[in-house]
Formats: sequence, C-alpha cells, structure tokens
Amino acid sequence: MSPAQLPSRGDYFKQWRGGGKVCAVFPAQYPKELLWAHGVLPMEVWDPPLAPARAQGHLQPYICSVVRQGLELLLAGGMDEVGAILFPHTCDSLQNLASLVADYLEPPAPSLFFYNPKAPFAAAAKGFYVSQLQALEEDLTLIFGPAPEGAMEQALEWSRRLSELYAQAYARRAAGELGVGAEEFYRLLRAGEYLHPRDYIPLLEAWLNEAPAQGGPKGQGIIISGVLPSPPDLMETLDGLDFRVVHDDLISMSRRLLYPPPGQGDPLEALAESFLAMPPCSTRGSSLSERLEWLKGLAQSGGAQGVVFSVVKFCEPELFDLPELRRGLKEAGLPSLVLEVDVNQEVGGQAATRLEAFGEMLS
Ligand code: SF4
Repeated sequence: MSPAQLPSRGDYFKQWRGGGKVCAVFPAQYPKELLWAHGVLPMEVWDPPLAPARAQGHLQPYICSVVRQGLELLLAGGMDEVGAILFPHTCDSLQNLASLVADYLEPPAPSLFFYNPKAPFAAAAKGFYVSQLQALEEDLTLIFGPAPEGAMEQALEWSRRLSELYAQAYARRAAGELGVGAEEFYRLLRAGEYLHPRDYIPLLEAWLNEAPAQGGPKGQGIIISGVLPSPPDLMETLDGLDFRVVHDDLISMSRRLLYPPPGQGDPLEALAESFLAMPPCSTRGSSLSERLEWLKGLAQSGGAQGVVFSVVKFCEPELFDLPELRRGLKEAGLPSLVLEVDVNQEVGGQAATRLEAFGEMLS
C-alpha cells in the first residue's frame, strides 16, 4: 500500500472484516496497543460523514457534533459488524453517550469503558491507569480471546515506531522541511485512525521518505488548536490561503500522537508512563498555565505568528479554556482567531474571509 493508494475507512473495514476482529472506538485517548495485541483493529469514530437523522431524537440540541455523528453511525448500522464498542472517558458528553448506548439503546456489540486519570496526576495515577489497562485486558480476553504469546511485545514495538514517525513528521513540518500542505498532512496522519500498524507504518515511512522537503504553503505560520482537523474544507481553505500550519494542538492529533515511546519494562507500566507524559489536553484536566506554555512553545519552535482555534460547537472542555488561553497568547504577542465548526459541515466562504483577514493582520 502506498500513500497514493490510501484506502478509505469503509474499504479498509470491508477488507479487514474477513480476517479479523474490529472494535469501534469513540474519542479520544485509549490504549490501542492492547487492542492490537488481541488481534483487534481499532476503528476510531470521530466524524462519520452522515446526514443528521435519528441521533437528534436521542440527544439534546447542545451536544457536540462528534457525539452526534458517532451515535448517528451506530444507529445507522455502521457498527453492526464490530465485535465491541469502546468508550474512553474523554468528557461528560462522551460519558453520557456511553450510558445512553449501554443502558437505553440496544447496541450491536458489547460496550467497553476506559477511564483515564485526570491531571494533576497524583502518585496514585499510574497505579490507577494500570488497573484500567488490566480491566480492559480482561474484557478484551472475554470478547476476543487471549492475546497470543509475544503479541503485546509486538504491539509495543509498533507503538514505539509510530511514536518516532509521528514525531518526525511534526518536527520536519515545524522546521519547514516537509513540503506538503495541511490537507495532505492530516489525510496521512488521520489514516492511523483506522489502518492497522502493519499497513500503516510502511505507508507513513514511504510518505516521509518521498515527501518533498520544499514546496508547501509559504505564507503566514500558524498553529491550529481544537479537536480535530475537520471539516476537510478547512484544511483546503488554509492551503488555498497559503497558510503554513507549522504545528497543531488538536485533541485528535498532536495531543495524543506525540506520546513518548513506551519503554522496555513491564508493558502495562510502560503504557501508563507514556500516557502520563503526553502533551497537555483539556480532556485530561491539564492546567491552563501548562496548556498556555505548551502553545507558546509550539509557536516558537515553528515560528508561528498566530493561532487559529477551530473549536467544535458545544465542546465544553475546549470552550472552557479558550478565553484564558487567548488572553495569555495575546500577552505573548500571538493573536488568535476562533472558528466554531461542526464536523462534516463545510466552513464555507465566511470562514475563508475571516481567515484571509487574519492572515493580513499577521503580515
Ligand atoms: S468535541 Fe468536545 S465535547 Fe465533543 S466529544 Fe470531543 S471533547 Fe467531548
């Protein structure tokens, strides 16, 4: 498989189904290594492209489109052939969705829950995370059977390699040595939401080897912050306006992809240590000051002049931090722009006009 032949989620799912097991996974952070070790393909559910229909009848109108679209996929039968559905405890909305699905709907597969500890991480956080890994491990064994001998070690090897490749992709882009726009960068990185590492690692390696060092957008450098690189036309708009996205602070991207590679000791302890050292995130309870310093560091490392917050409407964790982050960035000489988006709903011409004006202000 080459970067040019990147399969769609649907095609990959069909191709995988015959030979393996699949778990639908809601956002955001979860121990993918455990699923791989059990021979299970995680299919992450962030922004399925479905028209709003039945999900609206089960949710309040002020629930974010990530939750709404995920439920829409489930109700439309898009999870009928998975072996399990995993709900990480990311935010209240997803927690409520997990209860709704498990307690009031008839999900097509068993619901699994995964509780991340929240910052500030006290001494007990590592032990708590390990206990959650053990509980998930038991659930996966019941549903999919035990992990074969050596499978966990192999999963950790994949995880270490992916950590290196993600770090390389971000570092090259920040240094201006990856000549691709935002659309291509995120299309390739988002393929990790559904490709198995056996297929994904060679694909990322080939892309990083073949991608030109020069030739991407040449305009103002920005950071994008928010939940995920969606809607897709936002990335195309940024490329069209020649913005250099030098880094991101997205929940679905750098906040969980730039994880330290798990160490060589006990696998579950290594996964816990890696989790506890992830970049700060609103959904992990990180402090505002930590997030602000992180954002300023990202801007400095890539020479960004401003920050574009692409916030999913009604995303409480992100919206709560937003005013203070903007104030702190302004004090640091980093102007910001806020776009409120719905996943899969085009941002359109008005956002393009605002971005264009923002770019002019930065120049
Ligand atoms: S967009 Fe925000 S509120 Fe919605 S699921 Fe993600 S973190 Fe939760």
